Amino acid sequence: MSNLDIAGHSLAAGKTIKDHIHVRGTEIHIPHVVLCGKKPGKTVVITAGIHNAEYIGIQAAIELSQEIEPDDISGNIVIIPLVNRSGFENRTMSYVYEDGKNLNRVFPGNEDGTVAEKLAKVVFDEFIIHADAYIDLHCGDGFETLEPYIYYVGEAPCKTVAKEMTDCVDTKYRVRSRCISSGAYNEASMRGIPSVLIERGQLSLIKEEEVKADKRDVVNILRYLGVLEGQHDIYPKIDILEYSNDAPATGCWYPKMKVGDSFREGDIFGEIRDYFGKVIHTAVATEDGVLIHQCSSLSIIKDGPMVTYGVATLPQ
Ligand SMILES: [Zn+2]
Repeated sequence: MSNLDIAGHSLAAGKTIKDHIHVRGTEIHIPHVVLCGKKPGKTVVITAGIHNAEYIGIQAAIELSQEIEPDDISGNIVIIPLVNRSGFENRTMSYVYEDGKNLNRVFPGNEDGTVAEKLAKVVFDEFIIHADAYIDLHCGDGFETLEPYIYYVGEAPCKTVAKEMTDCVDTKYRVRSRCISSGAYNEASMRGIPSVLIERGQLSLIKEEEVKADKRDVVNILRYLGVLEGQHDIYPKIDILEYSNDAPATGCWYPKMKVGDSFREGDIFGEIRDYFGKVIHTAVATEDGVLIHQCSSLSIIKDGPMVTYGVATLPQ
C-alpha cells in the first residue's frame, strides 16, 4: 500500500512512530508503534491486550516493537501492545473497566456506544481496517490454564492465506473457527483481511519462554508474508473444532483434567461444589476430545467459562 495513513500518521519509508491515539468521549489513549520499512510491501497490524490480563501477548508485542528494525522491513508493521488499557491499569480480569464489557465481543465497535464500543471502533477503523494481514495475540485469562493453539476463520474469504499464516505458528492445535463476527480478527477476516489469533500463556503469569515463542511465531508469519526477510518454518497441526461448556452454577470448581489432556465421552471434567463442600454439578464429557483451556481458579461463575475443548476434524 502507498500513501497510507495509520491513526493520523502518514507513513514514510524508514520512519518509526511511537504515539497514543485518544478515544473520543473517554479518558483512554491507546499506545501504538508504527515501523515503516525502507522497502515497499504489506502492512501488518499486530494487537495484544484486547484482553488485558493476557500478559504473554502484551509483553511479546512490547518486545517486538523494540526489536524489529525498520531497515529489515518490507512494508509496515503496526503494533498496539495494549488495547484494553483501562482494564490493565485497573487490573480487571480482561473486561473493559468502565463498562464491564468483553472487548472482543463488540467489534467493529460504535463511536456512540459504551467505552468498550468506542475503543473497538477506533482500533478497528484507525488500524485494523488498513491491514493487509492481521495478528491478534491472546492468552489464557487470569483464571484460566491453556494449551497453546491458533485460530483462523474457516468461512472467511481470505481463509487460504490465513491458514498458511497458521502453518507458521508453533502450536500443536489449530482451531477452524465458525465465529464470523464481534471479535477483532473475526470481523477483519470477514472483510477479506487474512487474520489469525494466537493463544499462548495462562494464569496472568509472565514466562520468558512463552514470550519468546510468541515472538518467534510473529516473526515467522512476517517472513511468510515477505515483510521480514528469511525462510519461514512450517509446523504440522492437528485441526480441531472448538466447543465450550459454560458453568451451570456459581461455586467452587475442582477440575479433574489438565489442559492438553485427551478424554473420552463419559470422562469427568470436574465438579462444582457449594460452600459446604456438597457437589452441585459434575461436568461430564459428551464426546471425545482434547481439553484446550479451562477455568483453573477455585471460583467459578454461572454462565462463565468452565471448559473449552477441541474435537479433531479432517483437514479442510
Ligand atoms: Zn483473549
